[in-house]
Amino acid sequence: MRKRIYSVDVGGTSIKYGVFDSKKKLLKAWSVPTDVAIGSEAILEAIATEIKNDCEDVSQLFGVGLGFPGTVNEGIVIKAPNLNWEMVDVKAALTRLLGEKVVIAVENDANLAALGEYRSSSIDSDAMVLFTLGTGIGGGIVLNGKLWRGHNGLAAEIGHLDIGMFDFVCGCGETSCFETVASATGIKRLATMYIDNKRFNTSIETVYSAKQIFDAAKTGDKLALHVVDKAALAIAKATRMIALVLNPDTVLIGGGVSEAGSFLIERIEENYQALNRGIQIPVSFQTASLGNQAGLYGGYEAVKDYG
Ligand SMILES: [Zn+2]
Repeated sequence: MRKRIYSVDVGGTSIKYGVFDSKKKLLKAWSVPTDVAIGSEAILEAIATEIKNDCEDVSQLFGVGLGFPGTVNEGIVIKAPNLNWEMVDVKAALTRLLGEKVVIAVENDANLAALGEYRSSSIDSDAMVLFTLGTGIGGGIVLNGKLWRGHNGLAAEIGHLDIGMFDFVCGCGETSCFETVASATGIKRLATMYIDNKRFNTSIETVYSAKQIFDAAKTGDKLALHVVDKAALAIAKATRMIALVLNPDTVLIGGGVSEAGSFLIERIEENYQALNRGIQIPVSFQTASLGNQAGLYGGYEAVKDYG
């Protein structure tokens, strides 16, 4: 019987692997640096080889779930800017490399993270949205226990909601996108801007990371507190837009920025309450629990759903 499920979270700097047994026990997780320059075909061959080497007996392989930082539809990575990929048929390539019997599930990485968080948590939710606040901002929507991909995989591109704050240019080419303010990159950018215009007292001279800003805010640094509040306002604004469309019961905050924990959640809640006027839609904000393994668990779940 085929039991092993592999999960592969493909990023621009590293490829994370996880192997699960049929009862969702994560047996092992590891990562390998991504060499983007070798191109999609060679990267997919390297992934297949990594799995075959680890699995030893390929007849034990039930399926592989793969997450990519980009738009994905029906097994094809439509566009993944960090990898320089366009229209790569991942499902066809891995089926050729691993055999017809192996289930191949290909999804957007934030979608997989949302599915992983939802199925692994005790959250009783019929409409959950995950924000992954990392280098950029990704999102995933789980409705009635199922991933909502939209018509062709483009649902939950929440990082590009126009929140009408500042005028920073986004990687997508537009301005005022949510991720230009509340991602780790956005938080660093904001802090640097306020340091340069000397509007607030601060002990910070040079900005290294979003964590540094949160740590300073926790000690009462005025500039850092202002930055955290702007990020929390951006998250609240994005949530308000989503709430008016989807009426989610839960918004999970994940990604590196969520390590700020309740300090950030409390500020998001305050800002959300101030915006929640007219049609009032209560939302429960919670921090995600699986950290950077959410995508691996999501890969497992996607294989189970596809298989
Ligand atoms: Zn954008």
